[in-house]
Amino acid sequence: LIEITEVRKSFGSTEVLKGINLDVEPGEVIAIIGKSGSGKSTLLRCINGLEKINDGSISVAGAQFIDDELHLKALRLKVGMIFQQFNLFPHLTAGGNVILSQTVVKRTPKAEAETMARKMLERVGLGHKFNAYPDELSGGQQQRVAIARALAMQPIALLCDEITSALDPELVSEVLAVVRELATEGMTLLMVTHEMKFARDVCSRVVFMHQGRVHEIGPPEEVFANPKTPELRQFLGVH
Ligand code: ATP
Ligand code: MG
Repeated sequence: LIEITEVRKSFGSTEVLKGINLDVEPGEVIAIIGKSGSGKSTLLRCINGLEKINDGSISVAGAQFIDDELHLKALRLKVGMIFQQFNLFPHLTAGGNVILSQTVVKRTPKAEAETMARKMLERVGLGHKFNAYPDELSGGQQQRVAIARALAMQPIALLCDEITSALDPELVSEVLAVVRELATEGMTLLMVTHEMKFARDVCSRVVFMHQGRVHEIGPPEEVFANPKTPELRQFLGVH
C-alpha cells in the first residue's frame, strides 16, 4: 500500500533520513520506535507530504509521489495524520472541526460533511459531543475528535505521531482503544509510539529507527524479545 524506497531527507547540511526502505501492506499496523532525533516524525511527515524528500521515492496505493506541490497535496489527501497536539480550532465545536476539513480541503457539500462528521464522532465514541467546544472536552476526547476529523477524510492509511504523549495517563487508554478498534477494522496504521505494550499487542511489525535508518524491523515478539543490535537492546533497556 505504501512503498518507501531509499528515501533521503536533509535539513540544511544535516541528513536526517539516510536511505529509508519500508513496504507497508494494506491493513498492517506498524509501530515506529527509536530515540529522540532518530527521524521518526520526519519519516511520517515525508509519507504525508508535509516534507519534501531529497532522494528516493514514496508511492501510495500505486501512485508515485514526487516533490512538486500538486503531488504533495494529493498525498496529503490520501494519508491522514494525527499529532501529539490535537490542533482543533477552539472556536468550532467538535462537529464543526470534523466538518471544516472536509468542506475546505475536499470541497464536500456541507450536508454531506455533517453526516460524515456525525458518523465519525460516533465511531470514536463521541456522538453525544457533536456540539461541544474543545475546551469543554478532556484531552482524550479532543484527541478522539482529531481522529474523527482524520477519518472523515477517508484516508487509505493513518499516521499517528505520539498521539498519546500529551495526555494525562488516565486518558491514554481511551485513545488507544479507538486506535485498536481501527486496527481491528483493517485500517492501515503507522504509529510512532512509546506505548510498548500496545505495540506488542496490536502491531504486526515494529520498526526501530536509529540515526536516520531502519536499524531493526520485525514482528513485535521478535523485536522486543530478541533484539539483535546493541542499539536496540540499549533503547529497550535490556542486556
Ligand atoms: P522525537 O522522539 O524527539 O520526536 P524524532 O525521532 O521524531 O524525535 P525528528 O523530529 O524526525 O526526530 O527529527 C530528526 C532530526 O531532524 C533532529 O535532529 C531534528 O533536530 C531535525 N529536524 C527535524 N525537523 C527539522 C526542521 N524542520 N528543520 C531542521 N531540522 C529538523
Ligand atoms: Mg518526533
